[in-house]
Amino acid sequence: MPPQFLLFSQISFLMHSNMRTVKALFSVGILTVSCLAANPPAEQNEVNQVIQAALQPSPLQDNLRRLTDEIGGRVPGTRAMQHAIQWGMQAFTAAGADAVHTEGFELPNSWSEGATEMTATTAHLISNASLGGGTSLSTFPVHAVSVAWAPALAPVKHVPIVDVGEGTEAEFAKAGDIAGKIVLVHSHVLKTWADLFAEYAVAPPIIDLAVKGKAKAIAFIATREHDILYRHTNAVAGEIDRLPMVVIAREDGERIGRLLAAGNLVWADLSIPNQIGGPAKTSNVIAELRGSEKPDEFVIIGAHLDSWELGTGALDNGCNAALVVDALRAIKASGVTPKRTIRFVLFSGEEEGLLGSRAYTYGHRPELDRAAGVIIYDSGTGKTTGFSIGGRKDYLPIAKALISPLEQFDVKDVKLDMEWGMDHFDFMLEGVPTFVADQEEANYLENYHAVSDTYDKVDFPQLKKHVAEAAALAIELANLPQKIGPRLSRDQIEQTMRDTNSLDELKAFGIWDDWVNGRRGRQK
Ligand SMILES: [Zn+2]
Repeated sequence: MPPQFLLFSQISFLMHSNMRTVKALFSVGILTVSCLAANPPAEQNEVNQVIQAALQPSPLQDNLRRLTDEIGGRVPGTRAMQHAIQWGMQAFTAAGADAVHTEGFELPNSWSEGATEMTATTAHLISNASLGGGTSLSTFPVHAVSVAWAPALAPVKHVPIVDVGEGTEAEFAKAGDIAGKIVLVHSHVLKTWADLFAEYAVAPPIIDLAVKGKAKAIAFIATREHDILYRHTNAVAGEIDRLPMVVIAREDGERIGRLLAAGNLVWADLSIPNQIGGPAKTSNVIAELRGSEKPDEFVIIGAHLDSWELGTGALDNGCNAALVVDALRAIKASGVTPKRTIRFVLFSGEEEGLLGSRAYTYGHRPELDRAAGVIIYDSGTGKTTGFSIGGRKDYLPIAKALISPLEQFDVKDVKLDMEWGMDHFDFMLEGVPTFVADQEEANYLENYHAVSDTYDKVDFPQLKKHVAEAAALAIELANLPQKIGPRLSRDQIEQTMRDTNSLDELKAFGIWDDWVNGRRGRQK
């Protein structure tokens, strides 16, 4: 769900971001290539067979209903996530997989929120002498949730709140001494991918300043209106953050801001009893349709199965986990045999830093030369407009040709963008050809990671089209005479980073160091 609409110049100020579920991108603009004839007629028929099979009635809705309503939000390390993994295995088996298995990995810490509580108290003068004059106190509840993977805070009382505006260095300086206080950070209402990108980008420097000033905690005003709260994290690899932090309802936060601006003192009582434990075990779920001619070569179609838990993770990303299952069903039901193996992967640990797909690429490095493409969906059910292919000019023309059967769904664009924040990322850093679905915002952003991300928000007619797109692209990649592109060498990968003007962003996100030191990406 990348902010692919952002140009490099627009995002270059967003330094020090460690944005996660947001899809950063390093845009070089859209290249268009005249459409090639995608396939000879016989193969075109096979693609159409798969598309038709995808559009037939299926268990898609019921699968997603069970995942979201019955199992609910799915944080790795919880029972719900374990149930979701079982759901994935059963759903793949029922869809007709040749084989299904799980591959386990660990997050460095488990984390769950307790009963976060916050109240604010303000003092105001009573000027009417007949009421006795003097000072009166008012107390009101503040709707608050902990930021994910943030530390706990034992109950504190009467802690002064200090307004630091939007949290720039100048505004922190103007706020004066913040030691032992709760800093209130303002925000803008979220409307576009660019806004979401900015929300992630601004947090780390704010945390730096709050830590430096020895603040007690940070209260980020929510970017959604109407008391909607959402789970946010600034951790990049499941590590525990440096300071207790909450997201507070926009209405409560703005009220506190107005009180402070009018000269009233405001104090808070705050308790954040997060439960933090040792390493959390979780698993990716992998199903296969075996290739008839080149079974050792493989295409991956993937989506993350984990989610945050305030809502039930329907748009992010249950709908696309159900899509992956239904794509398997559609290909199987079409009667078209893939020549290469297709792996259908439900990743875990995405929300904590792409940990499942990262673990997968580490574990499968020896066979990544045989990877023939990775397709990822991770932006709710807004209409697919095209695919981003991670700077791979070498297969741009053929990619354009492969999506030509999807023009009936208005899928038209192939972009060279290198994006971050989705499960294709570590495959891209390993030189494997990737396809990330670019989608319209639709209702994704207002419900993003929020209490309102539930089954009723899913656009099923649109999701069915996405099943058709994903299944069609997977069978095309699996049945091309030659793999769509080679696995790039380390030097070639680095060249695509340069060609797409990605270096500044990779450095800002802390990925460049990992790349240079060989902790992430292709080794040679
Ligand atoms: Zn997601």
